[in-house]
Order: sequence, then C-alpha cells, then structure tokens
Amino acid sequence: MNNTDFASLQLQKPLLDNLITLGYASMTPIQSQSLPAILDGKDVIAQAKTGSGKTAAFSLGILEKLNVRHFAVQSLILCPTRELADQVAKEIRKLARAIHNIKVLTLCGGMPFGPQVGSLEHGAHIIVGTPGRIEEHLRKGSLVLDNVSTLVLDEADRMLDMGFQEVLDLIISFTPDQRQTLLFSATYPEEIHHIAERVMQSPVMVKAESVH
Ligand code: ADP
Ligand code: MG
Repeated sequence: MNNTDFASLQLQKPLLDNLITLGYASMTPIQSQSLPAILDGKDVIAQAKTGSGKTAAFSLGILEKLNVRHFAVQSLILCPTRELADQVAKEIRKLARAIHNIKVLTLCGGMPFGPQVGSLEHGAHIIVGTPGRIEEHLRKGSLVLDNVSTLVLDEADRMLDMGFQEVLDLIISFTPDQRQTLLFSATYPEEIHHIAERVMQSPVMVKAESVH
C-alpha cells in the first residue's frame, strides 16, 4: 500500500511547507509510487498519462538533492517541445520557491542563441531544454554537463517519436556515468525499453493507471 502523504517522504521542511502553500494536499499515484525510489537515488522509469503530476515527481527529487551553494548545472531536464519545457520550468520554479537562489534556465530552439550563451555564462543549477538546442550548446562548448547528477527524460515517448534518439544519446554522452537517470513517459513502446537499457542502471519501473 502506498502512503500518499508528502510528509512521509524524506523531504526538507521548506519544500514540504511550500507544497502545503501550493495546495498539494497529497501525492498523486505516480508521485507516491516513484518518489521513494527517486529520493533514494535510483534510476526510475515512470509511466503515467498526461496530467498525473509527473513534473513534481522528478522536480522534488531534483530539488531535494540540489546543493544551492554549488553553482553548476546539477540537473538537466530534456523535453520534446519549447511549450513543455516552459511548463516544466514554471512548475520547478513554483516548487523551488522555498529554497532561495535556485537558478533555473530554459534552453530551447526557436529562441535566439546568443542570449542563451550569455545566460549560461552567468550560471544555472537546473537546465530545462529541448534536445536540438542542448546539442547545439554542447557542440559550441557553451554548456558543460560534467556536474550533472540528475538527468530527466520527460515525455520520452514523444522525444523518440520526433526522431531525437541519436541526439539524446549524444547529449547523454556528455553527462557523468554515475548520474541518476529518470525517464517519464505516457506510453512504454519498445523504443523506450531500448533507450532505457542503454542509458539507465537497474531502473525501478512504476506505472500509474489513474489520475489522482
Ligand atoms: P504530467 O506531467 O503528468 O502530464 P503535470 O506534472 O503537468 O502532469 O501536472 C498536472 C497538474 O497537476 C499541474 O498543474 C500540477 O501543478 C498539478 N499537481 C501535480 N501534483 C499535484 C499534487 N500532488 N496535488 C495537486 N496538484 C498537483
Ligand atoms: Mg509532463
């Protein structure tokens, strides 16, 4: 049986208090199934449909382990589109309100490149971006992923549908091997299984059928 109370998790008090402020009364099914393993540092594959609260599941994991004083990119979240990346960044900033001075930066295609380089020079703790633009920054040397401890593949099924498989492999090759990898998807086709086998270590698999 799953305990759906956020307070049952090993989360720092400011994060818990902020969840109450935000009106997050209890965990959604995918959150209660994935968060214990995420907070335990495990690789996790989480499958649940749209609107089930997957963003908060990986964001709370990232925020709990983030070291604010270490001003380097500690988490990279890859999303299929700019709209989704913007939504994810918005949710993280909301959840991160309790922790001061966390810098979240979005790096997406369709936006001017130069200003992104400028923002990267100022530094960030968490990057949310689309694969093509992240790859471009890696090739140009404007983004360094040596300090990434958590990598998130959000809407992984959509990213693979869009043909990002090789780009994802390249991006992942720039991150440390000993990272935690979290994969979120609404569906679990064969291609997800293949990428998980390549880039994850003994992943815990969770699946939620219902929303809330
Ligand atoms: P998904 O990524 O699974 O499609 P989202 O992470 O975008 O879903 O979450 C959908 C909505 O639910 C968001 O508006 C989010 O703020 C809200 N939400 C997430 N977790 C909770 C919770 N535990 N309680 C209440 N609302 C939540
Ligand atoms: Mg989502």
